[in-house]
Amino acid sequence: ASLIRLARVTKSYPPTAKGAPRTLAVDDVSLTIAAGEVCGIIGYSGAGKSTVLRLVNALEKPTSGTIEVDGRDITGLREKDLRALRGDIGMIFQQFNLFGSRTVAGNVAYPLEVAGRPRAVIRERVAELLDFVGLSAKSGAYPEQLSGGQKQRVGIARALATTPRILLADEATSALDPDTTQEVLDLLQRVNRELGITILVITHEMDVIRRLADRVVVMENGRIIESGDVFDILSAP
Ligand code: ADP
Ligand code: ADP
Repeated sequence: ASLIRLARVTKSYPPTAKGAPRTLAVDDVSLTIAAGEVCGIIGYSGAGKSTVLRLVNALEKPTSGTIEVDGRDITGLREKDLRALRGDIGMIFQQFNLFGSRTVAGNVAYPLEVAGRPRAVIRERVAELLDFVGLSAKSGAYPEQLSGGQKQRVGIARALATTPRILLADEATSALDPDTTQEVLDLLQRVNRELGITILVITHEMDVIRRLADRVVVMENGRIIESGDVFDILSAP
């Protein structure tokens, strides 16, 4: 069954200078992602990849076209349904976006505090998440005391706190060295295989797609220029 479905989606932004044209960031994109899949979107800077993520997360509204998550149109959601949608979608970032003034446990607990979960429930869930990402020993540390790979593992634990079915990864390994990239990709693979979470990754690195994704979508100038099985696309002449 398809979990995420974009049908003929267009997103244009107003001109950034007087007299300039509107930017067509996403141009007639149709894309279906099945439950349990790891789908990668690759393309150069400015291709429209992050805009696609923000559309799926309902941080942006499409100019035209429809976006469905789990069979439900998300383009006209009210505040309450938007919150539910965002609880079902975790997100990780290139610069990790951790709160520097909160401990590792405090960062992971944050979405649960916002959701108003009871303290005892939060404590147990945070311990479970830190165990899953291998950072139980660092629960009281602050982000600045961690390596880049450890920071991203905290980011992943926080993204999983509300038990989402979808994880969106925005250049999640682009700030990391090759060894640490491998460690984070291995963890993302476990998130997919052990937890059954559907992952959409955007990246400009072919290697990330090769090691993690089942399927790849190639974007250029807001359009999908190619898509298919990773092996087929990457081995094409
Ligand atoms: P990518 O993630 O592939 O680098 P983006 O989705 O960030 O691409 O950007 C696609 C295009 O849309 C670029 O030309 C970018 O400058 C433009 N763009 C993105 N966000 C905005 C915005 N908020 N306002 C105006 N233009 C934007
Ligand atoms: P901060 O001061 O960074 O916000 P806190 O120590 O107040 O961090 O903890 C924030 C949340 O994380 C609390 O809900 C707490 O229950 C939980 N927490 C703290 N330490 C642990 C731990 N070792 N294991 C599990 N949960 C923890």
